[in-house]
Amino acid sequence: MKKFDVVIVGGGTAGMLLARELGKLKHNVLLLDRKKNLLEFSFNTLGSFMNVDDFGFTQNVIAQNINTVSLVSKRVKRNIKSNLYILDKKQIHVELLNAIDGNYVTIKTGVHIKNIETDNHGNFTAVLDQNKEKYIAKLFVDASGTTGVLSKKVGLIAKKTQLATGVEYNVKYLGKATEMHLLIGKVFQGGYGWIFPLKNQRAIIGFGTFDDKIVKDLKNRLHKILELLAIKKLVIKDNVKVEGGSIPITPVLDKFIVNNLVCVGDAVSQVNPIVGEGYKFIFEAAIMASKAIHTSLENNDLSLLKNYETDWKNRFLANYQRSKRAQERFFKYSQNSLLMDYVLLISKLYPDARAIRSLSGEYGLENS
Ligand SMILES: Cc1cc2nc3c(=O)[nH]c(=O)nc-3n(C[C@H](O)[C@H](O)[C@H](O)COP(=O)(O)OP(=O)(O)OC[C@H]3O[C@@H](n4cnc5c(N)ncnc54)[C@H](O)[C@@H]3O)c2cc1C
Repeated sequence: MKKFDVVIVGGGTAGMLLARELGKLKHNVLLLDRKKNLLEFSFNTLGSFMNVDDFGFTQNVIAQNINTVSLVSKRVKRNIKSNLYILDKKQIHVELLNAIDGNYVTIKTGVHIKNIETDNHGNFTAVLDQNKEKYIAKLFVDASGTTGVLSKKVGLIAKKTQLATGVEYNVKYLGKATEMHLLIGKVFQGGYGWIFPLKNQRAIIGFGTFDDKIVKDLKNRLHKILELLAIKKLVIKDNVKVEGGSIPITPVLDKFIVNNLVCVGDAVSQVNPIVGEGYKFIFEAAIMASKAIHTSLENNDLSLLKNYETDWKNRFLANYQRSKRAQERFFKYSQNSLLMDYVLLISKLYPDARAIRSLSGEYGLENS
């Protein structure tokens, strides 16, 4: 049985980027995913502040350029000028797959990892699939998203994680192509909504919530939002295909490694707490992880994996903690329409740059 340098469980956002980076560094990697087709998703568009060049993508991944974020509560609207993007998720993953070096990275789909084997020191020796087939490596990566198949087994993340869930429709769009809308407050069913414009007068309208009490009836709630006069002026629902999924909203974590197991992405809740932007933050984390894995393998020293946690903390911890507090406040305000109107009105006193720092979760330039 072949022993790989690294077995990555999960060929989504985190797993694919990590496989690309480790392939570049000439490590033998096995990437496993339970899906048969890595380009099949439960939703297809992303809002993001990321600069796509930074992560090696072409401009083809951009579905729409946005220059205005419109925050909308029951009675108040605030337009914030900022450049961001609606991204084509499938195109991102096509480019990732094309960039993965097949000389070093083997991809196996239809492999559902169920179990692990460890030695007496707690180091992983193998992961096992639905047919009890074993995959062995020096290091293992959990990139299995909210499933957290390995991170949960070693207690890095609670077995029952709190999830925010979202549903979306692709609709006809009557608004400005470069204006994205964020809908907040009780009038929008006590959760939060978004309208992401696409090309050709189409858009994605979605509804999500942090509250597990609201989670059950999401599709009907989105239908109610579609009936609101203000929304009817912006979008027309002309098909029934509903998309969606879940993101983790656990407390901010800062431990991603146990012995020879490294965790990246939703498996350890690396999504930005305030707007749920996962891609940019997970890509950055995966690059940090790839560097630490490389150094650890080169020096045959597991302790060097810790560099990944250190780098992540330096880059993200303060921002994530701050976003998490903002998320908690936001959720409280969004249960009360009047309060949300007031908060939005007050926010107009603050410059756009500050509002965007809060939305993007990048607080680093507070004094600029
Ligand atoms: C509705 C919704 C809207 C979102 N909107 C945005 C947005 O606008 N912008 C943004 O940046 N982010 C957004 N996100 C967040 C972003 O999609 C996630 O943070 C990101 O995809 C997580 O990446 P990941 O690699 O950790 O997990 P995933 O991309 O979920 O990949 C996990 C992979 O692991 C595989 N897998 C799981 N369990 C096993 C197992 N046991 N064995 C083998 N394989 C397994 C899965 O099949 C999957 O391919 C959104 C999420 C949702 C749900």
